[in-house]
Amino acid sequence: MIIVFKQKTSEADVNKVAKNVEDLGLSTHIVVGEEQTICGIIGDTTKVDPKSLEVSPVVEKVMKVSEPYKLANRAFHPEDSIIDVAGVKVGGNHMALIAGPCSVESVEQVTEIAKAVKESGANMLRGGAFKPRTSPYSFQGMGTAGLDILVEAKKATGLPIVSESMDAKYIDEFNEKVDLVQIGARNMQNFDLLKEVGKRCTKPILLKRGLCATYEEWIMSAEYIMASGNPNVILCERGIRTFETYTRNTLDLQSIPVLKKMTHLPIVIDPSHAGGKWWLVEPMAKAAVAAGCDGLMIEVHNNPEKALCDGPQSLKPEKYDELLKQLSGIAKVVGKEL
Ligand code: PEP
Ligand code: MN
Repeated sequence: MIIVFKQKTSEADVNKVAKNVEDLGLSTHIVVGEEQTICGIIGDTTKVDPKSLEVSPVVEKVMKVSEPYKLANRAFHPEDSIIDVAGVKVGGNHMALIAGPCSVESVEQVTEIAKAVKESGANMLRGGAFKPRTSPYSFQGMGTAGLDILVEAKKATGLPIVSESMDAKYIDEFNEKVDLVQIGARNMQNFDLLKEVGKRCTKPILLKRGLCATYEEWIMSAEYIMASGNPNVILCERGIRTFETYTRNTLDLQSIPVLKKMTHLPIVIDPSHAGGKWWLVEPMAKAAVAAGCDGLMIEVHNNPEKALCDGPQSLKPEKYDELLKQLSGIAKVVGKEL
């Protein structure tokens, strides 16, 4: 349920109405917008009589929210959320340009790639230290040593770090070393992990879409993180499983306009894991920017032929550079800053 206040309602009057709701044992979430202030009500709203709230002279209207997600709901926060990742803004007209290797392999590899992508215009560095691999016999990532290499690369370039955490036991380490904590597709519905990063993670979260998750399931996972105390969530579409086998996954670009309707959270597109082929990255990245995404996460490797993970879908630094040049014109058309 949402209480919409009349324009120019004072903070004291808003708080008074919110207090009445809280006295019924519900929680409230006040959003002060440029035009209007709204108060979202979270909990068992059957206890609330909308008519009695509308009696107040400062209340414009009371609306029921039928969706099961509240904090992530666009109705609760009509303006786009802008998430700050170590000084880099994501959302609104600000684009996240995340680039880097699938996995951290060595200091030389990461620093060389980090310097190159920064030069091209990337504003965040990605690199997996803890890798969720389908096979237990595949390279599992360098772990803590990998995170330390990313920290070194950040020192050299200033680029904030994006890396995946698969287990709540590493949260303190990620709080110290990583700027944007990725929850991978396979963990999108690991509810205990979502609750822990909501409670204890001091950094924003990049929540990837599960391999076969619906929009609502994905947003509900964001809601878990937000309801546990971390409001800073960025969504990432990385392709879903379909009957098609030619591509690794199928990139769902409809998710951009649909999610923008459903939620105020930014949405980043990962064309690398979607197509699984390096030559699909450029056309899909262009289409994603044209469709209004809030950022791109792209795998870049200085030697894709020898990459320990996901070489076939990785761009060489020169290709990434060309791509960003081409994207700037498209971004301008849709009112985004690259
Ligand atoms: C990744 O980005 O490194 C990754 C493993 O992606 P996903 O969880 O989308 O498969
Ligand atoms: Mn990868």
